[in-house]
Amino acid sequence: MKVYKFGGASVKEAAGVRNLVEIARQTEGRLFIVVSAMGKTTNALEKVMESFWNGRTGEAVVAMQGVVDYHAEILADLWGEPHLPARVRGFYEELEEIITLANPKSRTYEEWYDRIVSFGELISTSIVSDYLTRAGVESEWLDMRRLFLTSNRFRDANIDIEASTPRLRRAVEYATARVIVGQGFIGATEQGATTTIGREGSDYSAAVAGYILDAESVSIWKDVEGILNGDPKQFENVTYIPELTYLDAIELAYSGAQIIHPKTIKPLQNKSIPLYVRCFVNPSLPGSVIKAEIEKPIDTPILILKKNQILLSIKPEDYSFILEERMAEVFAILERHRAKVHLVQNSAISMALCIDSTRYLAEIVEALHEAGFTVKYNTDMELLTIRGYRHEHLAEFVEAENVYMTQRSRKVLRIIRKTNGDF
Ligand code: ASP
Ligand code: MG
Repeated sequence: MKVYKFGGASVKEAAGVRNLVEIARQTEGRLFIVVSAMGKTTNALEKVMESFWNGRTGEAVVAMQGVVDYHAEILADLWGEPHLPARVRGFYEELEEIITLANPKSRTYEEWYDRIVSFGELISTSIVSDYLTRAGVESEWLDMRRLFLTSNRFRDANIDIEASTPRLRRAVEYATARVIVGQGFIGATEQGATTTIGREGSDYSAAVAGYILDAESVSIWKDVEGILNGDPKQFENVTYIPELTYLDAIELAYSGAQIIHPKTIKPLQNKSIPLYVRCFVNPSLPGSVIKAEIEKPIDTPILILKKNQILLSIKPEDYSFILEERMAEVFAILERHRAKVHLVQNSAISMALCIDSTRYLAEIVEALHEAGFTVKYNTDMELLTIRGYRHEHLAEFVEAENVYMTQRSRKVLRIIRKTNGDF
């Protein structure tokens, strides 16, 4: 059994879906395919959610129509005429019923978010599975909401691997088709409420499926030739890295490299399942592989830029930071508001933290005030991490005007700076 994951960009148009079909056709043996929402559908559904949540039904309906039209175009291209698979029609009806009839205040924001946004994956997988079969690659569609049991932390749910194992194994055993298609990114609680596992989480879904099914490998199909030492949209002269260890990959993902979701590596490492990053536009390229041992350690510096950051500067009003419990208090507040912390730097009486931008910033600041801290913050920041930095990077990046803070170890240089639109 192999696991393949196709991200939104790789199925953003009909050509990508055809490509997926060819890749599946040419792969021998059983195949479990994890698919994300097509193109920017998740963002579009987030807009549907915002309008719905704010009681602007008309706006939500218009936003949903955009999603329907986008998929209709892909379907018409694939089938050579307008076509709507029955399952997709059912999902449209369900979504429409929610946005026109449901009372947003009957559930939390997060719970509605997961209900609404999950349609992206439900629709994309239905289209892919339907088209695979039409193209002569017999496939079976699985509803991952019945197979991945998660915690009820909506928008950031954890997959309960142990509880999901018998469910997924059984579903795959019973499936008669060679190719199985399931959604990335989604699952459900024990009570059956739909959950999502965090933006860009489909890689993690694929890794968990690989782990549970004891896959021989997991491959993530991307629009790049493999793993590069920087995002070509942000940096010049990037080069390709053929092999990485699990540890390299975890560090990269943790620093914000977009190539793989940070949680992806652990399940694979635990069973020594290699992870391939392959180029879907040119499947004959070898891509990159992440595995336990590699022949040659990486010798190029790796640059990772994490955007949409907030720099928080926190001081206790009573000069008490020397006590660890004050720090614990700060982290408890951040955890409660689901802040994702990427860098911490502290002195005797102050603490600076770099966190992902969040809709709960006002609440975080308020809670910190109440706990007796003075808080300052800067928004529109970004975190640049350079692993294996060279001397010239210091001159190029540290001395720049927009730099607010730096942190440096022997191997890693991290810079928090104002986003100034230079990239
Ligand atoms: N569709 C989801 C997102 O865009 C999950 C994923 O792509 O991995 O965040
Ligand atoms: Mg996506």
